[in-house]
Amino acid sequence: MLASLRNIVQEVNSARSLGEVLTIIVKEVRSAMQAGVCSVYLFDESDQRYVLMATEGLRQESIGNVRLAMREGLVGLVAAREEPLNLKDADKHPSFAYFEETGESPFHSFLGVPIIHHRKVLGILVLQQETQRRFESEEEAFVVTVCAQLSGAIAHAEATGALRQLASAGGDRLREALFRGIPSSPGVGIGRVVLVAPTADLKSVPERFATDIPAEIEVFRTALESAKDDMRNLSKGLEGKLSSEEIALFDIYIRMLDDHSLGGEVIAAIVDGQAAQSAWSSVILKHVRTFRKMDDPYLRERAADVNDLGRRVLGYLQRNEKNTQPLPRRIILVGEDLSASALADIPIDRLVGIVSVKGSSNSHMAIVGRALGVPTVMGAVDLPWTEMEGRELIIDGFSGDVISRATRRMRRAYLHRQRQEKLLAKDLERLRDILCVTPDGFSITLWINTGLRQDIALALKSSAEGVGLYRTEIPFFMRSSFPTEDEQTEIYREQLQAFAPNPVTMRTLDIGGDKALPYFPIEEENPFLGWRGIRISLDHPEIFLIQIRAMLRASEGLNNLRIMLPMISSVPELDSAMELIDRACRELIQEEGYNLEKPAIGAMIEVPAAVYQVKEIGRRVDFLSVGTNDLTQYLLAVDRNNPRVADLYHSLHPAVLRALKSIIEQADAVNCQVSVCGEMAGDPLSAVILMGLGYDHLSMSANSLLKVKSMLSQVSKAEAQSLAKRALRMSDAGSVSQLLSDALSRPELVKLYRPAELDEKAGFSDSLTSLKLVK
Ligand code: PEP
Ligand code: MG
Repeated sequence: MLASLRNIVQEVNSARSLGEVLTIIVKEVRSAMQAGVCSVYLFDESDQRYVLMATEGLRQESIGNVRLAMREGLVGLVAAREEPLNLKDADKHPSFAYFEETGESPFHSFLGVPIIHHRKVLGILVLQQETQRRFESEEEAFVVTVCAQLSGAIAHAEATGALRQLASAGGDRLREALFRGIPSSPGVGIGRVVLVAPTADLKSVPERFATDIPAEIEVFRTALESAKDDMRNLSKGLEGKLSSEEIALFDIYIRMLDDHSLGGEVIAAIVDGQAAQSAWSSVILKHVRTFRKMDDPYLRERAADVNDLGRRVLGYLQRNEKNTQPLPRRIILVGEDLSASALADIPIDRLVGIVSVKGSSNSHMAIVGRALGVPTVMGAVDLPWTEMEGRELIIDGFSGDVISRATRRMRRAYLHRQRQEKLLAKDLERLRDILCVTPDGFSITLWINTGLRQDIALALKSSAEGVGLYRTEIPFFMRSSFPTEDEQTEIYREQLQAFAPNPVTMRTLDIGGDKALPYFPIEEENPFLGWRGIRISLDHPEIFLIQIRAMLRASEGLNNLRIMLPMISSVPELDSAMELIDRACRELIQEEGYNLEKPAIGAMIEVPAAVYQVKEIGRRVDFLSVGTNDLTQYLLAVDRNNPRVADLYHSLHPAVLRALKSIIEQADAVNCQVSVCGEMAGDPLSAVILMGLGYDHLSMSANSLLKVKSMLSQVSKAEAQSLAKRALRMSDAGSVSQLLSDALSRPELVKLYRPAELDEKAGFSDSLTSLKLVK
């Protein structure tokens, strides 16, 4: 049974539609249980009934026609009780309802199991047998497991409207659909979807149709030929190293790509209207499933070969892809696991929204979204993203909602919110040229975090007093190989020049974790505890030295460079990095004649180990900067990139606040300047706490700067200190948030951290409101 379960899960995972999922389930479960009938009934919200959606064993004509009211029949009873019902003589049960059109008269025993997702009954899976026997408890457990696996896929389909489409047998009454994600950059974005599919991933190929069939066929044939050439070359290269039977496998693969095999099947699907990539991935996934089910272990292993072959051809198709579709005027970038490199292919001035299925509000894509001021939603796990291309979406970066097929009233409500935000931004512009001084006369220095070229313009608009964090990995993401020393010099010079004479804090390459360069992939089981930041730089001094040399050369004549080292977790690590920086300075100044001043060197405090060694670190460097994003994740043991634990990630957790207090006390003791450059600094409420703890240098995304400036110039340092004192004594993050929002509840402050109200009653139809309640 375990093997069957694994098989079913694998098949369901590679299915491309709800119809396919249901067909797989009824077929496979019936065969695994050797039952007479396996059926799935799903709840259709539009007429509040359970509808027979798929069956193996009952008449196919009854699909879509058997509809049971909420408490009708045994199916209704299972749904109402929310637990399995296992009967020997179903026809004798008082709730039994007979449907002649199904042809179910010969069946006596009945096992019904509810399919539940997030505490809501989505449907029922039913097994029936001719013999009068109760199903064994192992059998029941097996079906319960299958239903638990199935519930995610069904909830997903419900949210997209695929379920309604199936239930109403093609009479598609389209309604709005809402998907929940994690709010990651505030604002409202309304635009059309541009998909970013990971390359050579068969399961995430978007559903596309062919606009020019002969051209699609041509593209497909070219890709096949390239893959065949690869096979021939591989086979030649391995001659003498592999046995003749193993070499013969390559011939088999080449033949599989022929017209009378996989190639022919795909061409037929293209002729039927599918685009080459969609057709190829459907056909390959189908064959992979077939191989996986084979009894013979040798043949079963061939599934992996077919999958590899599939990815190889897909890679060629994607490489040769000429995207003929013009890009929409307002772009919403959607993808499964977006990273900053996705921005390389689109005009950023047209980007109005970002949605990623994976990741969380502290993932790097979210940080980039905030830096650009683009509404961003991460962790939208139920979004059927491969079906979204070209659709209009509303992105609510305040709540994390993503809405497709919005009604006119809903659209109006969001446009209203968008206008309010614009008015606020305009109003805040009056603070542009004013320094940040609290009502009781304390100055706070506000810097910005940069990484993209576009940040420069935004930063200058917000009149930042310098750059507290320039994430050098971001320009590295935008390329297909490591930039050369000269290229880096040019990129860094642009930043240094734009802000001179103000300081620019350049952080050395901080890759690893959720930041993998496309050309330097790092595969690790536990990437956030792995090869990250300074660890990579010290293991690859050639990459590190090139970067340091480029920074130093770029600063010639400007002298506003500060170099910062990420992920420092021990003193020897810091010493080694500083030695390399000294070496680069010596080379450039003494041997190559550059006219440079040695820049200030700093370290990030973002790992718990560093919190306990602030004094030792602080004595060695010129400045410190607290990376609260990583510090929070490591202190709370909450992966900043995992949507499942996103609600546990809280920088206002008292443990984080106490660490922040300890850091500033130790830094003051050794007379070392310290700032905060994590996202916490850009949150107007958290900024008050940071000021209260004694931090007077904060670095944030350009878009947050004027809001934070407005907040801090209206809250006295004395008030912030008293709030910080009280917060430090609290036991949980929720209480700290509450303390802050209660204390800072004047309307002129509230508008800085809470968006304009959405008129939900006027703006939303009942169906959307109920969907919201369900999720
Ligand atoms: C941090 O960890 O707070 C930080 C600023 O660095 P990053 O978000 O780039 O890891
Ligand atoms: Mg960090």
